[in-house]
Amino acid sequence: MIDILPIHTQRTTASRLATLDADHLEFGKLFSDHMFVVDYRDGEWQDAQIVPYGDMTVSPANSALHYGQAIFEGMKAYHQTDGGVALFRPLDNWARLNSSAERMCMPTIPEELFMQGLSELIRLDAAWVPDAPGCALYIRPFMFATDGFIGVRPSDSYRFIIFTCPVGLYFNKPLRVRFEQKYVRSAEGGAGYAKNAGNYGAAMYPTKLAQLEGYNQLIWTDASEHRFVEESGTMNAIFVIDGRVVTPALSTSILDGVTRRSVLQLARDMGMVVEERKVSSVEVMDALAAGRLEEAFGAGTAATIAPIATIGYEGQDYDLPVPGPNAFSKRVAAALEAIRNGQAADSHGWMVRV
Ligand SMILES: *Cc1c(COP(=O)(O)O)cnc(C)c1O
Repeated sequence: MIDILPIHTQRTTASRLATLDADHLEFGKLFSDHMFVVDYRDGEWQDAQIVPYGDMTVSPANSALHYGQAIFEGMKAYHQTDGGVALFRPLDNWARLNSSAERMCMPTIPEELFMQGLSELIRLDAAWVPDAPGCALYIRPFMFATDGFIGVRPSDSYRFIIFTCPVGLYFNKPLRVRFEQKYVRSAEGGAGYAKNAGNYGAAMYPTKLAQLEGYNQLIWTDASEHRFVEESGTMNAIFVIDGRVVTPALSTSILDGVTRRSVLQLARDMGMVVEERKVSSVEVMDALAAGRLEEAFGAGTAATIAPIATIGYEGQDYDLPVPGPNAFSKRVAAALEAIRNGQAADSHGWMVRV
């Protein structure tokens, strides 16, 4: 990639790299040395810089804090078997960031600005990309309003930041989930397809209730009837029923996951039938009772492929069969991992070297 923008870089004089303990990584607690910051003012992005990761000051009146004008992305950089570092499908995250921005009346980011800021940041903090199996550098791009104004209208100024965290595996045990049939995450016509901050704050209470009952996550159902599967926490839900890969079709209430998209592509590559359509909780439970539900798993950047062991439905828990060594979830997780660390051919052009 040709660098075209002047990004002013101020390197840290106090690297925290020595505190990186790749064997004990807890998701989201340790931040790499630097962050990329760029401000939107007077109708343009300006003052792109890479600075030491740290606190910053904002107006207490900014509309991100009051009205939730804030969006984010989640993606990963992977250590390559030949020693380099590569990003997985970064342009998909860039495009989704911009679609979230449009939904929230925020400015979009030009591709070159996003890619150049990201690449320079990852190159500078390349030593933070862990190389142990299952580990990666989690990347958090995000944007928020910065006007000091509390009228309810879109802000005129914004800040876009990228920071990174070395991470290990997210869920290390098979999941216990339950269908949520009272609360909703999002509705058709709402902002569920956008990665805007408020979606996640509002999901915390129903999720907490489920966790108090001993579940790890919810499976959200549709807002009007609580009949159809939406997704699970920050993962898309994927089922294997009668040898077919079945997942809810995208809509305005479902997040269009890059992992979901990649899993479906790899399933097609393996010659499997993929069905993107409405999936009801009744269909899932009937298939489970009849022994036709072979697998269920969540798919997302943070969790990667998270197999579901138990599903709660109307007050009862039902155990899924334990996936065998040849289970689709295991084969697809291995195929993704091999592409991501450069062991397998990247036939879809998903990896971008930094
Ligand atoms: C981010 C996210 C996902 C997963 O998307 P990926 O691009 O695969 O990480 C799924 N659902 C929700 C609600 C999310 O926020």
